Amino acid sequence: MMKTTTLLRPHMRLTVLGRHGPFPAPLCACSGYLLSAGTKSFVLDLGSGTFARLIERRPLLDMEAIIISHLHYDHMSDLFVLNYALEAKGRVVDVYAPDEPTSVFEALCASKNLIMHKIDAGTKFNIGDVSFSFSRTKHGAVCYACRVEYEGIVFSYTGDTGLCENTETLFSGAHAVLADAGCSRLDKHANTAAHLTIEDALKLFYKNSAKGLIVSHIFGGAVNTPNLSEIADKAPGVFIAEEFSSYIISKDGIIPG
Ligand SMILES: [Zn+2]
Repeated sequence: MMKTTTLLRPHMRLTVLGRHGPFPAPLCACSGYLLSAGTKSFVLDLGSGTFARLIERRPLLDMEAIIISHLHYDHMSDLFVLNYALEAKGRVVDVYAPDEPTSVFEALCASKNLIMHKIDAGTKFNIGDVSFSFSRTKHGAVCYACRVEYEGIVFSYTGDTGLCENTETLFSGAHAVLADAGCSRLDKHANTAAHLTIEDALKLFYKNSAKGLIVSHIFGGAVNTPNLSEIADKAPGVFIAEEFSSYIISKDGIIPG
């Protein structure tokens, strides 16, 4: 009943194409998400293994734009094969991404089918009635989180980040947050500064009264990974991103759909 009611009101739909980093688990894919709002579709990151899943859902590659949080390969490597597909179909697509590392950005700019736009912390734009704004995260590469607004619904994607001032802002007032929990290993000595732990994401979620949380960027290795489903089951409004699954985002928060 709640799903029917939600679908009658404005909503966004997030589909997980891949959820792993910095490399996939067997038969899985790295970070990539399809976001639909009204009649418009966007791709947030397109990491290794996600293109095959994207073309299954959007065979005409008819998305409005691709937003890349940063130029680490687990978030963008499939842009290079997307380029071949665009070439074959005679299509172009707008891609928004940071321009560092320069060598990677220039390699993308060499494609005639990827129309590259540089983003930075001040970038804001609208595509139809969907608005995007960006903030710098704390990560090994220049990385930007994005905040997407549609019909008063606020959705934040953290990209890859450790704890910083901007993570608070991303969670604050959000109806849904898609959060990096790349440091989901129990051995927290590893890389704690460049990614959130699932505990960090939960703390931010409660402290800033966000309505819903999807935890993703799950470590691709199987070493010391906590039982994520068990953690989510105890926290209403919190979901562990599942590949191929969709989530409906409204002012009420998130429901699977
Ligand atoms: Zn990553």
